[in-house]
Amino acid sequence: MVPSVSTYRGRLAPSPTGLLHLGHARTFWTAQARTHAAGGQLLLRNDDLDTARCRPEFVTAMLEDLRWFGLHWNEPMVSQSARIPLYRAALARLHAAGCIYPCARSRRDVLAAASAPHDGEENDEPLYPPQFRPPAGTPRPALTDPIAVNWRLRVPDGESLSFMDGRTGPQHAVAGKDFGDFLVWRKDDAPSYQLACVVDDAAMGITEVVRGADLRLSTFRQLLLYRALGFAAPAFYHCELMADEKGVRLAKRHDALALRTLHEQGWTPEGIRAGWASG
Ligand code: GLU
Repeated sequence: MVPSVSTYRGRLAPSPTGLLHLGHARTFWTAQARTHAAGGQLLLRNDDLDTARCRPEFVTAMLEDLRWFGLHWNEPMVSQSARIPLYRAALARLHAAGCIYPCARSRRDVLAAASAPHDGEENDEPLYPPQFRPPAGTPRPALTDPIAVNWRLRVPDGESLSFMDGRTGPQHAVAGKDFGDFLVWRKDDAPSYQLACVVDDAAMGITEVVRGADLRLSTFRQLLLYRALGFAAPAFYHCELMADEKGVRLAKRHDALALRTLHEQGWTPEGIRAGWASG
C-alpha cells in the first residue's frame, strides 16, 4: 500500500530581535510535535522586517538555539526582508479593492484619542478611533513609491468573526470593538507584521499556524486579510504563554531564561522538556 502523503505544513516564525527563551522553545516544540503527528512538513521563517530591532547576530543565535533544542525544518529558511515585492503586490491588491486608507495620525494622536480594546487583551494595541478615518467620499490617494504614509485596513465595524482554535476551541471577536483599523504598511515603507504574516503563510502553503496566545486577536485581523486577498485561511493553534516565577509573561528581556543561558548552565533540552511535563 502506498502511504498517503500528508499535506500538513507548519512553521516556526521567530523574530530575531533578541535571544529565544523558554516560551519560544515550548511553542516551537508544540509546532514540531503537531507537524510530526500529522506526518507533515515544518518550515522556518525569519520574521526580520523590524529593521530597527532585528540584528544579524540574533539570526545566528536563533539558528544555533533551535538546532540545539532539537528543532528541525524541511526547507531552507525563508527571510521576510527578502520578500518585500510579494507584500507590496498584496498591498496593491488591497488598495485596488478599496480596503485600505492612508492615515497621517501619529502614534501619540492615536493613543490620546483611543479607547481601550473591549477585553483589554494583554499587549494588544489600542482601538483606532473611527473618527480618524477619512470622511466618506474622500478620494483615495494612489500608492507612492516609496510609501511615506501609514496605510490601514478598515475593519467591518460590528461584524462577528470566529475561528476554531486547535487547543482552546471556538474563538469569537467583534471587529471595531475588540480590535480596530490596523496597519498594513508603515510610513517608513515597510509592511506590517499582519500583512507580511498572511502573505507568507499563504505563499508557503501553511495549513496550521501554531503560535503564542498573545497573537489570538491578531488572528482575527489576519482572517480579514485572508478574506480581502482571496486566500484560504489555515487552521490556528494558540499555545499557552509561559510566565516566570513571579507570574510575569516571558519576553526577550528575560535573558535569565534564554535558551542559551540555560544551555551554558548545563541544562539539556531533555531536562527542560521534562520540566514542562511535570510542571
Ligand atoms: N514573529 C512573530 C513573533 O515572534 C510571530 C509570528 C507568528 O507566529 O505569526 O512574535
